[in-house]
Amino acid sequence: SGGVIDADIDAPEAWTEFTGNRSTVVAVIDTGVEYTHPDLLPNMWTNPGETPGDGIDNDNNGYVDDVYGYDFFNNDPDPMDDHRHGTHVAGTIGAKGNDGIGIAGINWDTQIMAIKFLGADGSGTTADAIAAVQYAVDNGAHMSNNSWGGDPYSQALYDVIEYARDEGHLFVAASGNGDFIGFGIDNDATPFYPSGYDLDNVVAVAATDRNDQIAVFSNYGQTSVDIGAPGVDILSTLPGGGHGNSSGTSMATPHVAGVLSLVRDFEPTLSPQQIIDKVLLSADPINALQGVTVTGARLNLLSSLVPDTFGPQVAGVQP
Ligand code: CA
Ligand code: CA
Ligand code: CA
Repeated sequence: SGGVIDADIDAPEAWTEFTGNRSTVVAVIDTGVEYTHPDLLPNMWTNPGETPGDGIDNDNNGYVDDVYGYDFFNNDPDPMDDHRHGTHVAGTIGAKGNDGIGIAGINWDTQIMAIKFLGADGSGTTADAIAAVQYAVDNGAHMSNNSWGGDPYSQALYDVIEYARDEGHLFVAASGNGDFIGFGIDNDATPFYPSGYDLDNVVAVAATDRNDQIAVFSNYGQTSVDIGAPGVDILSTLPGGGHGNSSGTSMATPHVAGVLSLVRDFEPTLSPQQIIDKVLLSADPINALQGVTVTGARLNLLSSLVPDTFGPQVAGVQP
């Protein structure tokens, strides 16, 4: 489809080094996930303390029969996707790799926790979002992908993300898809949440395209948006066991969540903040993101895995 050379995240190069080891749980907080999809089923998280379908809350976490996660929209334990958005997001993070099916997610061997709070029309309430984040943190998700948002500031949503931070949980969030005619806006001037919450566990993501330009729809912000990642014509999993393309900062965000999860799998001794710093500091500077994001850079998986790219270089030590 054209484009410029190396406008990608160098995933194939990174995969020669490492492809994941299932030690990181990534919550997809979204419209649900088609957990039966053949490209996703092997990489779904399941609640180890819960017996399916017996009507009993076996692990005493407050939720009966929550096996793959929970559905806060319908208040039931089945987070099946009745939209398409969450399934597409999940595949980018962790569709099974090297299985002869469809695509490879960024992390070939991970654990995806499905948490639904958005309905079949793609919308939901802040109250359900708060419950979703709380569930993710309390049930062992090390990070979450949050390809959703809106304008109003919610102190209660801020508070639960702050709680997540205190528990070491990384919160990856989309910068948003522009104004009512689809042109990206400056989140520094017009805040967008939850990506705009000023908490150091929040990683706010803009979308780039195959020309390493910022997507026309992508919101941006020199202080409020951290990094860019591919978000135009992204091939991933779809309900019905299929695959297809979607575009949006929603598609860019799971690239970052996938990379964060792979870094955590690769270097389990890193602190949550070190994992974030490593990914942000090792991204590729590109002109299109200068002055409109904190890092001015587009995600790079290979650089994120190379230990020498972490932090300030020590004098005399060559990378
Ligand atoms: Ca339970
Ligand atoms: Ca049960
Ligand atoms: Ca696959």
